[in-house]
Amino acid sequence: MRASELLAPTLREVPAEAEVVSHILMLRAGIIRKSASGVYTHLPLGYRVVKKVNEIIREEMDRKGGQEIMLPIIQPAELWMESGRWDIYGDELFRLKDRHGRDFALGPTHEEIITDLVRGEVRSYKQLPLLLYQIQNKYRDERRPRFGLMRGREFVMKDLYSFDKDDEGLDITYRKMYEAYSRIFARCGLSFRPVEADPGAIGGTGGSIEFMVMADSGEAAIVYCDKCNYAANVEKAEAVVNGVPSTEEMLVLREVATPGAGTVDEVTSFLGVQADRLIKTLIYRTEKETVAALVRGDREINEIKLYNLLGCVQLEMADVQTVKELTSAEVGFAGPVGLKDVRIIADREIVMMKNAVTGANKTDAHLANVNPDRDFKPDEVADIRLVKEGEPCPRCPGKLVEARGIEVGQIFKLGTKYSEALGARFLDENGREQLMIMGCYGIGVTRTVAAAIEQNHDKDGIIWPMPIAPFHAVVVPVNSRDEQQRGLAEKIYNSLREGAIEVVLDDRNERPGVKFKDADLVGYPLRVVVGARAADEGIVEVKHRKSGNVENIKVDNLVRYIKKTVLDELAGIEKYADRRWELD
Ligand code: ATP
Ligand code: MG
Repeated sequence: MRASELLAPTLREVPAEAEVVSHILMLRAGIIRKSASGVYTHLPLGYRVVKKVNEIIREEMDRKGGQEIMLPIIQPAELWMESGRWDIYGDELFRLKDRHGRDFALGPTHEEIITDLVRGEVRSYKQLPLLLYQIQNKYRDERRPRFGLMRGREFVMKDLYSFDKDDEGLDITYRKMYEAYSRIFARCGLSFRPVEADPGAIGGTGGSIEFMVMADSGEAAIVYCDKCNYAANVEKAEAVVNGVPSTEEMLVLREVATPGAGTVDEVTSFLGVQADRLIKTLIYRTEKETVAALVRGDREINEIKLYNLLGCVQLEMADVQTVKELTSAEVGFAGPVGLKDVRIIADREIVMMKNAVTGANKTDAHLANVNPDRDFKPDEVADIRLVKEGEPCPRCPGKLVEARGIEVGQIFKLGTKYSEALGARFLDENGREQLMIMGCYGIGVTRTVAAAIEQNHDKDGIIWPMPIAPFHAVVVPVNSRDEQQRGLAEKIYNSLREGAIEVVLDDRNERPGVKFKDADLVGYPLRVVVGARAADEGIVEVKHRKSGNVENIKVDNLVRYIKKTVLDELAGIEKYADRRWELD
C-alpha cells in the first residue's frame, strides 16, 4: 500500500472529545472516525486490524468445531417476549417499528433468535452438540457510550452459542471455549487474565468467566490471589468471613445524640469508635419491595450480589422521601432496630458483631450497644459486600491483590434458561423429550482492538502487537525528491511485498519528521528508513517500534531480515498460545 493513496488522516492535536488513550490514538492515527455518539467508521487501517482479530477468532472457533453462520440483526419482538427479556432488557435495547407498527429490536445479543432457529431444526440427540457462531455488529443503547470503541452503541462481537444434550456435554463445550478464548487473546499478543464473573443480563446459573485484558485504564476491577489461580471480577469475588463471633458481653442498648453526624466518618469521629463497630444501613427499592441492607461501617455494599440475592429486575437506592417515611428521620440515621415494613438483609459479618453502633431511626441520634438477634432479626444473612485488596483468598491461605482490566470476552453456562423459555427440546437415546443445555460465548472484537492499544502504546503512539498490526512494516524514503532514494525505496517496497510482508511505502511528499512521527503514531512494528547511506553504501536503517532498537541492515539482506523478524515474533506468540490453557 502506498501512503499517498491510503486514507489514514493523522492528527497532530489531541481531539477534545477523547478521554482515554486508545480513543485518542485511534482518532489521531486515522483509524476511526465518529459518526454519532458510540457509533464509528473504521478506516482502512482500523478495519485491517478488526479483520485480523476476526481471522484469529474464526480459526480458533472452527478448530473447536464451531460453524459460522449469520443471524439477522433485526429481531422480532415476539421472541424477546417469549424469553421475557423484552420487558427487562430496558433502555439498552434499540427498539424499532416497521411500517405496519410491528415491534423489532436491533440485536444486542442473539440467544432468542438462535434458540428459535435450533428449536425448529434440531430434533434428535444425534444432532448434538451443536456450536454455532457469527461475527457481526451488535447494538446496545448504552447509558454512557464512551472511550471510543471501548463502549460503543454499535460494535463488532463474535458470539457463539452451544447446544448440548446434558450437563456433561456443556462442561466439555465450556472447557473448549475457555481454551479457545485463552488461545485467541494470546494469539492477539495480549496480556490477559480469565476471572470468575457475574452472568449479568445474559443470565444462567451455571457459572461465567470473563477474559480481561490487563490495563490500568480498564473499567473493571478484579482481584486475584497472590498464591493460587483464583481471580474474580470484584462484582463476583467471594468475601471470606473473618475470625469468630465476638465474645464480648452484651451491654445495655442506649441512644446517643449525634447531632449532624450522618456519615460513617462523622459518626466514628463524633463517638470515637472504629468504623468496624458500625452497622451501615442502606435502604434500597426494587420493583417489588423495599429492603434494608446492612454491612459493617468499614465495608462497601456489592450491589450486584444484592441484586442477585433479591432476584429483582430493578434495584436502586431509595430516594430521600422513602427513607424519611420509613425511618422517620433524615438520611444518615437509619438503623435496623425497630425498622418496619422492610426486609432486612445482613451481611454475614453483621451477625458476628456485638455492641455495635447503628442509626436510631431518629434525626441526630444513633444507638449504641446494638446486638443482632437481641435487638433486631435480619430476614436474611448473606454475602453482600465488596471484597478489597489484602483480604484473604476464598480458596487458599493467600491474599487478594487488586488490578484493573478491560473485559474483552465472556463465557456463560446458560443451562436451560432459554431452551425452557422458548421450548428448545430434543429426543434423547430413550426417545424421551429433553431440554437442550445451552452455553453462550462472546468476544468484543472492536473492544479488543481498543484494549490492545490501551495495553500497548507510548507517548508517540500505538505499538501494535505483530499478529494484529495493520501492516508489519513501513518503508520511508528520507528525501522523496532524491531520485535515487525514491527508486531504492520503491524496489525495497516491492521485494518486501513479494516476500509476503504487509508493507506501506510512505511515498508522500512530506518532510521526514512528519513521516517518522506518523510511523510511530500508527505503530507499524518495523520502520525501514532509506536515507543517504542507502544509495552510497547499500545500507538502510530498521527501527523496531516496540524496543526502539535501531539496526543498520544491508539492502541485500533486508527482505530476509524483515521476514525473519516478523516470523520469529509471530512464532514466539504462537508458541505461547500453544501452552495448555486449562480450566480448573
Ligand atoms: P459490559 O459489562 O462491559 O457492559 P457486557 O458484560 O454487557 O459488557 P457481554 O454481554 O458479555 O457484555 O458481551 C460480550 C462482549 O462484548 C464483552 O465481553 C465486551 O468485550 C463486548 N462489549 C459489550 N458491550 C460493549 C460495548 N458497548 N462496546 C463494545 N464492546 C462491548
Ligand atoms: Mg460481559
